[in-house]
Amino acid sequence: MALDAPLVAVLVSAFAMTAIVGVRYLLTSGLFAWITARVRPGHYKGLDRQIRSEIAWSLASAAIYGIPSGVVAWGWREHGWTRIYTDVHDQPLWWLPVSVLVYLLLHDTWFYWTHRWMHRPRVFRIAHAVHHASRPPTAWAAMSFHPTEALTGAVVIPALVLLVPIHVGALGIVLTIMTVMGITNHMGWEMFPRALVHSPLGRWLITASHHQRHHESYRCNYGLYFRHWDHLCGTDAGLSQAFSRP
Ligand SMILES: [Zn+2]
Ligand SMILES: [Zn+2]
Repeated sequence: MALDAPLVAVLVSAFAMTAIVGVRYLLTSGLFAWITARVRPGHYKGLDRQIRSEIAWSLASAAIYGIPSGVVAWGWREHGWTRIYTDVHDQPLWWLPVSVLVYLLLHDTWFYWTHRWMHRPRVFRIAHAVHHASRPPTAWAAMSFHPTEALTGAVVIPALVLLVPIHVGALGIVLTIMTVMGITNHMGWEMFPRALVHSPLGRWLITASHHQRHHESYRCNYGLYFRHWDHLCGTDAGLSQAFSRP
């Protein structure tokens, strides 16, 4: 039986997006692993087995992220499903930077609460133990998730583009921040200057120094980009001591 044309188009879009997410992961994690080998030689020594497992889980996650994105991308092209716009004048210009912030804040909120839920002992064993099997995490751990956890992450951007207007370029910025911070927060060293990380602004931002502490202590520092939920809910334990240099 022949598949009908729209179904083939959806499948092709889902497959293409899976390939894009997978290749994006390999290139960007590979780049930051390469930088790590240059600036912190031997930092991932003895972690070869763990890294192979991180890559395998991450590539499986690429499919889980790729499928809903591919379906929504097809719906955008064919049926105008999304609120993504290509003419900057379709919305007021101030919305360009504000939309980036709104997307990051909404994603952060979703992440904070689903992440806390995944630290409930029964859910943790099923959904989140895979991510914490990285001890310590590396640049390859960015998408090292059990499929259940990957699904909670994969639905966020496809759902937001259906609801909140965003210029295609601003969406590109959101996806770049998401990719780079997901990798560098697991990289095992801090790439941002101390002057920023320890500044009043740094108190509200999440970088590797903050997320490393989550991987050390588990029941604190649940946020993704910002620390306000951790501050509000009393779950902020500050920065990892492992990164503090004399
Ligand atoms: Zn993590
Ligand atoms: Zn966790």
